[in-house]
Amino acid sequence: MMKQIIYVLTALALLAGCGNKEQKIALDNQNFKYIVEKFADLQILRYRVNGFEELSLQQKELVYYLTEAALWGRDIFYDQNGKYNLRISRALEAIYTGYKGDRDNAEFKALEVYLKRVWFSSGIHHHYGSEKFVPEFSEDFFRKAIATVDANNLPLADGQTVEQLCDEICPVIFNPDLLPMRTNQADGEDLVLTSAVNFYEGLTQAEAEEFYNKMKDPKDETPVSYGLNSKLVKKNGRIYEDTYKVGGMYSPAIEKIVYWLQKAEGVAETPEQKAVIAKLIEYYQTGDLKTFDDYTILWVKDLNSRVDFTNGFTETYDDPLGMKGTWEAIVNFKDMEATRRTETISRNAQWFEDNSPVDKQFKKENVKGISAKVITASILSGALYPSTAIGINLPNSNWVRAQHGSKSVTIGNITDAYNKAAHGNGFNEEFVYSQEELDRINKYADYTDELHTDMHECLGHASGKLLPGVDPDALKAYSSPLEEGRADLFALYYLADDKLVELGLTPDAEAYKSQYYTYMMNGLMTQLVRIEPGKNIEEAHMRNRSFVAHWAFEHGKADNVVELAKKDGKTYVKINDYQKLRHLFGELLAEVQRIKSTGDYEAARRLIEDYGVKVDPVLHQEVLERYKKLDLAPYKGFVNPKYELVKDADGNVTDVKVTYEESYVEQMLRYSKDYRTL
Ligand code: ZN
Repeated sequence: MMKQIIYVLTALALLAGCGNKEQKIALDNQNFKYIVEKFADLQILRYRVNGFEELSLQQKELVYYLTEAALWGRDIFYDQNGKYNLRISRALEAIYTGYKGDRDNAEFKALEVYLKRVWFSSGIHHHYGSEKFVPEFSEDFFRKAIATVDANNLPLADGQTVEQLCDEICPVIFNPDLLPMRTNQADGEDLVLTSAVNFYEGLTQAEAEEFYNKMKDPKDETPVSYGLNSKLVKKNGRIYEDTYKVGGMYSPAIEKIVYWLQKAEGVAETPEQKAVIAKLIEYYQTGDLKTFDDYTILWVKDLNSRVDFTNGFTETYDDPLGMKGTWEAIVNFKDMEATRRTETISRNAQWFEDNSPVDKQFKKENVKGISAKVITASILSGALYPSTAIGINLPNSNWVRAQHGSKSVTIGNITDAYNKAAHGNGFNEEFVYSQEELDRINKYADYTDELHTDMHECLGHASGKLLPGVDPDALKAYSSPLEEGRADLFALYYLADDKLVELGLTPDAEAYKSQYYTYMMNGLMTQLVRIEPGKNIEEAHMRNRSFVAHWAFEHGKADNVVELAKKDGKTYVKINDYQKLRHLFGELLAEVQRIKSTGDYEAARRLIEDYGVKVDPVLHQEVLERYKKLDLAPYKGFVNPKYELVKDADGNVTDVKVTYEESYVEQMLRYSKDYRTL
């Protein structure tokens, strides 16, 4: 049930997942530079903290203190990812800054790229694939280079020589058979012994599982998240937890976090928020997981504060056993205007339900739109930095969610930065049929993408009902792509409705065409860039987009609604009749809702299998070749802005200044120096 990080829902996913050429620098009308640099398979972007100036001085100060609390946890995440990571990154940084040889040397350049990748992953394994990086410089070069560096800057253990340090860390860097995976998920292997993550030491998977199974009480209806904040160690035959807390493991970092949280507590916006921060401090001081649950409950209920944050051991994806929380932090504040948009949508949920093309018996008499908050991130740290999610839904504890609810947010300024950076990356220029569609996309797509996502979330998933007696699990494996398709279709159908112009949600009656075009292009063609040759479509959101687009394409054939047109030997999506396409979306929405409401498994199976799974190998090949030529980076991350307190002569805080000048390298070296604790 760990669906806490939402990795986008619409065509945007593709844009966000694709990349940009670094030479084309995306600028907005205020000359904000969104693209920082590109190396390996990574692109570094910058996000803007829109609206920070509008916050009150107290809110700005609060953001500042929480930001410091976020940055002080940096070393924890490195160490959790692998116990050699901090020493390796420090040795590399010492070489990078102090190397006395030729810096244009190919091996030095390769070491620079390797270090940038280590920074990106907070360790020596790929942040997404989890496999260990292969350095493109030799061990011989590494040993020679480190010998030119001032030994005072090296992470030498007590009495250790530089030679001994190399003997210790070189095999970890250069031997591909040693610690090959950060998190091993391969079925049948001992996942604890074969994973490099620093969550377990000296014991097997069976021993770890037995340790925690003994703790669990099946009758406990409010269980704590066992093992979330500790390393499990076996020493001298004894198995025990080394808990992350003040006075325990990672104490030097946690003490700093607590110090800044205490400052934040002093400028909290509301008593509720003050209580949240106080409870988090108590948890960091005690390491008590019951206190952690209490903290998350207070956090979920704090809905009125403008500024919000998470700071702690949170997601458990990196632990092969799914128990240990990796440390992460984000500080943010509510984007009032964008949140008004989601509120407008939710407020009108009943109108949308009543007027949809769905058969009356499948409609909800009383529909309540889901209200999602749009936030502006002001700092990212730990597992959310530099690579981040665009939406977060917390907490993770199932019983807390069931009894107290959860907070669901989308991070508006991160999505915006992805969009801005994608402009001019050549992707749309390559795949869009003509200038007319391209102009429309450039004018509307950033906005209609967001609107589509909002409608998908706030209306689509909330609409419709099951007939009495229908098993909610009747559609089995087809339920997920069908459900995503239902939400997409609800949004697509209404994007073209006059009601949206009337509500001020779309600027004019043309805007929807941009979304229709990118949706069809994505579903029929361009999402195939993420599928390997010869493979079928598996992922639920991709199956959803595929079945929606292919169904509409096939059913509009008689009227030539959408065609796959050829130009200079290349294939393009061409939409000939946007209004008829809307009616097709409406027709399919009615059918998909019928399938869900009646639990018609066979119809669901046919729909997904006939339109959602298979790939045309010729078109696939063509799309892959065209995409490859664009040379786009598949993964992206962000540098943070820099915050500074402005004080008057008496030392009183008068303002908080935010600047965006720092480069990726400057920021990483600064963090490594200023926030070093472990
Ligand atoms: Zn969805």
